[in-house]
Amino acid sequence: MLDLAIIGGGPAGLTAGLYATRGGLKNVIMFEMGMPGGQITGSSEIENYPGQGSVMTGMDLMASWPEQCQKFGLKHEMAEVSNISKKGDNFLVKTAEGKEYEARSVLFATGSVPKKAGFKGENEFFGRGISTCATCDGFFYKGKEVAVIGGGDAALEEAYYLAKMCSKVYLVHRRDTYRAAPSTIENIKKSANIEEVTNVSVEEVLGDASGVTGLKVKCNKTGETRDLPTPGVFVFVGRHALNAPLKQEDGTFLCDMNENGEVVVDLKMRTNVKGLYAAGDIRIEAAKQVVCAAGDGATAAVDIIEYLG
Ligand code: NDP
Repeated sequence: MLDLAIIGGGPAGLTAGLYATRGGLKNVIMFEMGMPGGQITGSSEIENYPGQGSVMTGMDLMASWPEQCQKFGLKHEMAEVSNISKKGDNFLVKTAEGKEYEARSVLFATGSVPKKAGFKGENEFFGRGISTCATCDGFFYKGKEVAVIGGGDAALEEAYYLAKMCSKVYLVHRRDTYRAAPSTIENIKKSANIEEVTNVSVEEVLGDASGVTGLKVKCNKTGETRDLPTPGVFVFVGRHALNAPLKQEDGTFLCDMNENGEVVVDLKMRTNVKGLYAAGDIRIEAAKQVVCAAGDGATAAVDIIEYLG
């Protein structure tokens, strides 16, 4: 029997693991099918994590977190959790490979995955010129032109990052105002090789057997189309909550969710089901910042220790 099953190995899951094990829980497993670290490891420049004065990659920021947790006894199971259900007072955690674990408490911290923008050719050319990770794929476009789609923090930060290695970045946005931090917008405005292509909808990605060759956009005001000659297209149009393991056989969710598929929690990260917690980007009203996800994880762990005690 586990004291705590943590689902997800991002900043929320890792911090919960650290606080839970250091706080005395003996049998804690963090289920994470990939390398721990979470979605932030795909970010190219982090400059807002408190205490880290220099700009660093998400990968560098997260590098030491797993080891710190393991020191206190957190175990990592490289497995995909497919379902979580109630079993008496406890929970049953099932993995995609068919393994089952019983746990007295569960922290759900699965985060989210990138959304598709929905233009023609997006699926066909994904991985062949279309990407959702500038740190992973930006290098392939060194000295070349790329397009970045979106108008939020992710799109603008990654456009700024790409502008340092690419000859030109087209920042393609469906409106003419952004929903990013003012300092990030300022960076964009100051970059000589970023062209803002605003008030447009993306019609389709152009390409052939070699991959992407361009992007066709249509002006929302005039209806005029324009072909941007770029072999690389980076899509940052928001994220989807990864809530599938909470779905029950009858199609309902194990706990209360909001209309965006995010888990409803209180200030201690408790769901409406006793012993079930959620933390990080998967919960309602998440600020979607590493420091906030880590804070959520610590908050949840402190309450879980009290709950189990
Ligand atoms: P956001 O939801 O903030 O922004 C998504 C952007 O994509 C919006 O500009 C939206 O347009 C546009 N968009 C959405 N759907 C489409 C579509 N189908 N076609 C074209 N454009 C589309 O997502 P982000 O991933 O940027 O950020 C998520 C959260 O994470 C935010 O809270 C953000 O602040 C945070 N974040 C913080 C960072 C940091 O502080 N360092 C770094 C990255 C993210 P519209 O504006 O018109 O709706």
